Amino acid sequence: MSTNKHQQNASGPARRVIVVGGGLAGLMTTIKLCEARIAVDLFSLVPAKRSHSVCAQGGINAAVNTMGEGDSPSIHLQETAYGGDFLANQPPIKGMTDAAPGIVFLLDRMGVPFHRTPEGLLDFRRFGGSLYHRTAYAGATTGQQLLYALDEQVRRFATEAVMDPTGMTLPGERLVRRFEGWDFLSLVLDDHGRCVGIVAQHLQDMVVRVFRAQAVCLATGGLGMVFGRSTNSMICTGSAAAIAFRQGAVYANGEFVQVHPTAIPGADKLRLISESVRGEGGRVWVPKDAKDARPPSQIPHRERDYFLERRYPGYGNLVPRDIASRAIFQVCFHEGRGIRNENTGKNEHEVYLDLTHIPPARLREKLGGVLEIYTKFVGADPCSQPMKVFPAVHYSMGGLWVDYERNASGSLTVGSPRNHATSIPGLYAVGEVDYAYHGANRLGANSLLSCLYGGLITGPAVASYVDALPSSAYDLPADFFEKAEENERKNVERTLARYGDNAEGINPWKLHAQLSDVMLRDCTIERHDDRLDNALDTIETVREQLPKMRIEDTGERANQSAQFARHFENMVLLAHVIAKGARERSESRGAHYKPAFEKRDDAKWLRTTLAKYSSQEQVQFIRSFDYDCVGQSIHVTDEVDVSLVPPRQRNYEKAGAASEQATGDAPAEAL
Ligand SMILES: Cc1cc2nc3c(=O)[nH]c(=O)nc-3n(C[C@H](O)[C@H](O)[C@H](O)COP(=O)(O)OP(=O)(O)OC[C@H]3O[C@@H](n4cnc5c(N)ncnc54)[C@H](O)[C@@H]3O)c2cc1C
Repeated sequence: MSTNKHQQNASGPARRVIVVGGGLAGLMTTIKLCEARIAVDLFSLVPAKRSHSVCAQGGINAAVNTMGEGDSPSIHLQETAYGGDFLANQPPIKGMTDAAPGIVFLLDRMGVPFHRTPEGLLDFRRFGGSLYHRTAYAGATTGQQLLYALDEQVRRFATEAVMDPTGMTLPGERLVRRFEGWDFLSLVLDDHGRCVGIVAQHLQDMVVRVFRAQAVCLATGGLGMVFGRSTNSMICTGSAAAIAFRQGAVYANGEFVQVHPTAIPGADKLRLISESVRGEGGRVWVPKDAKDARPPSQIPHRERDYFLERRYPGYGNLVPRDIASRAIFQVCFHEGRGIRNENTGKNEHEVYLDLTHIPPARLREKLGGVLEIYTKFVGADPCSQPMKVFPAVHYSMGGLWVDYERNASGSLTVGSPRNHATSIPGLYAVGEVDYAYHGANRLGANSLLSCLYGGLITGPAVASYVDALPSSAYDLPADFFEKAEENERKNVERTLARYGDNAEGINPWKLHAQLSDVMLRDCTIERHDDRLDNALDTIETVREQLPKMRIEDTGERANQSAQFARHFENMVLLAHVIAKGARERSESRGAHYKPAFEKRDDAKWLRTTLAKYSSQEQVQFIRSFDYDCVGQSIHVTDEVDVSLVPPRQRNYEKAGAASEQATGDAPAEAL
């Protein structure tokens, strides 16, 4: 071990880690690192409290069973594995579902104002893909309450001093330094390919700076912008993941993108109408007669088709999202039975989501935030007339490949440096940007949980990695980092000059529209090989035009156009990963549905899609690879660990399909 491992130098104390992302995953990772007395530089495009996690509405899952239904973590594991169509490795799911009750109690102690029963117990609602009341919630603004609670904890650490290993306080150092309003540009890799820092750009003065660290964790969220308008925030471009991918990180299951069944229009993005609306009793329907253009209140119940309840009597309106979205798509696109527009005489691609049978006071108490969104953006009150909704791109199950270490009971070995390690040594990933927990389809309210559980185990994993390092980023000469900064600065200047020089250039927003149109049409609910080929051609055409992009604003302050153009180049790469992964996978599984291959094909496709960048913006699929974790070479294959819940075909038409084998509190292994 190097003698100067713990030396302080001009860049900060010896134990410093970079977390890129101030959403739930990034904040929880930061908290755990601070608890291990490791200082954190926290980066975010926006103030952490405006991270996309703030938009989460409906709740967070935990099998606490205060409702006395016999729910348990093992049933939660069953339903998650089943809902994800068995594509997720099961030890991470087991770790997550076992930890879930403790996570909700922890949040409760942090002061999250969870809704409570009249007796004062935590209240739970139902969510998609489950027959149990398992979702803890704070009205319909759960994400905001969680994010603010974690942000407060991180602010507390930001006031604490940093000590060196001898117990001496490092003058002027604080456990957390915030870099809000910075854009991640690249990883700094040393000569052994180990991640030792990042280069980032300040979005106000556009200055480019290098930051060194003993490890880096990306918690940069989803990629909805690849599809143009989605329920995601406009900062969800996936740019950071694409950069890591280009620099060598393996990307997994990219083709699995969730389309949420119920959203409404918006000029910038689509607004989600949370699954909690159906959890509280909302019913989806269309008129039985496709030509019926009467206002919904005049259509009697017997003339309505509650098609989800009809087809899925057990789960009804709460079938998993992939199934509900496909059913709505079928009704609207294939059967032409979407809501009839009385003015145009055409059937729109919308269905009713009806709450009008529920007392308004109860709706306001439990769903206030969602009702406000609908009223604000549509101008109608969902308490008195059914909402009109349609499916929208929502979540990426795929993401950066991350490792885990399984323990004897089939869960994760907490503290192993392998947990959440990417294939680049020293680079970790957590939250929506990783691929680890949801397989082919995420169950509602499992994402907040996976972000928080991910953070809880990534923190100790990174701490173990840092402790085991034979030498650190701080042993590298300063000019190594100066060079990395200089290269990136030149890169940014060259790109900006190129964007400005293209006299006949192409507007990046127009190119984005071209890309997102094809992604939306050909890479969402239904996928056909010929259309995927067409999508790949379009992506290639867009890619060829990237050097011709022109932006009017070449200013050196707060240049949002330059930032967008840069992120767009990265979106094109992710679009390629998604479309090519979809083209390759000849089966239907979860959110990936090909009518030409109706069935799930476990013999051939029960495997993780592993994508690797192969120069010239090309993507290569691999079956295995090796990576290094603190000196240990680890061989990874695409095999999925399904040892806890044996795969079986999904059958949501049958009541209780997900948990039909679950028996109370029996350990998952026995199920
Ligand atoms: C409308 C909506 C409602 C939802 N409701 C629920 C729900 O009720 N329950 C549930 O479980 N899930 C829900 N989800 C999903 C869930 O909210 C997200 O998956 C989750 O919040 C993602 O958290 P995260 O920490 O991974 O990323 P985010 O919260 O998206 O945070 C990403 C962070 O990374 C930063 N960042 C990104 N790129 C860069 C870059 N290039 N440089 C620097 N920083 C960067 C951002 O600034 C941000 O701080 C919902 C999703 C949507 C869209």
